[in-house]
Amino acid sequence: MHAMYSPHVRRDAVSLVDSGISHAEVSRRMGINRSTLRAWTRDRSLVDRYADTDHCPRCEPIPAPPGRRDAYGYLLGLYLGDGCLTPAGDHTKGVWRLRVMCSDAWPGLIELCAGSMAAIRPDHKVSRVPSTGCTEVHSNWKHWPCLFPQHGPGRKHDRTIALEPWQRDIVEEHPEQFVRGLVHSDGSRVLNRIRRSLPDGGVKHYEYPRYHFTNVSADITALFTDALDLLGVPWRVHTIKGNGSRRDKHVVSVSQRDAVARMDAFVGPKY
Ligand SMILES: [Zn+2]
Repeated sequence: MHAMYSPHVRRDAVSLVDSGISHAEVSRRMGINRSTLRAWTRDRSLVDRYADTDHCPRCEPIPAPPGRRDAYGYLLGLYLGDGCLTPAGDHTKGVWRLRVMCSDAWPGLIELCAGSMAAIRPDHKVSRVPSTGCTEVHSNWKHWPCLFPQHGPGRKHDRTIALEPWQRDIVEEHPEQFVRGLVHSDGSRVLNRIRRSLPDGGVKHYEYPRYHFTNVSADITALFTDALDLLGVPWRVHTIKGNGSRRDKHVVSVSQRDAVARMDAFVGPKY
């Protein structure tokens, strides 16, 4: 009965359940019979798990990138936008917590974020901590710094942020996922309303959607615009000068109609 599903389907299904999505929803999404799904989550030995639960692809004798490259591209965007690594609980054990703040403004973001963490590290718990206007999604692991080598002392905008070659390969392979992650964490889709007077004395309102991405790190801003270039999405950037302790902010905007439609297709509109 279980032989008809490949090991990675079984693992993905159980990861989704571990990330907090209901059996019914996982069953509907993946087209897996609910009783089969229940059997997998009840008896984990039916699922082809990593032999070593601390399996880290970067700590292999020959370091490898994470297996789920699309999920990693998205999670990397979320991490660089608004994520961080902090020592978890009893840090004498060297455990790190990957934390991403998910704004309520993007419907479905909490689930997407939790799903990508679960895909990168199957069979482990992903937690959600609701707060005002946002929810923190986090997961604990010793090896998060291996997967996010941009982690370092101080804040991201005070350091040089450069991708390692294996990360660049993933971004070039999945630029849509990377852009989507960055926009979901540090971007927004806004409607510009323009009022026009008509010759007959009436008034008409036009609405122009556009995307904004705002970051204080010039390096992260450049990673974002490089990925837009790969996708052929035209953009403009302007810098809002800071003063005193306030830093310069870089604001990238995508406003051409075709470009916004292209972004809508993979970033998803803000409802
Ligand atoms: Zn590692």
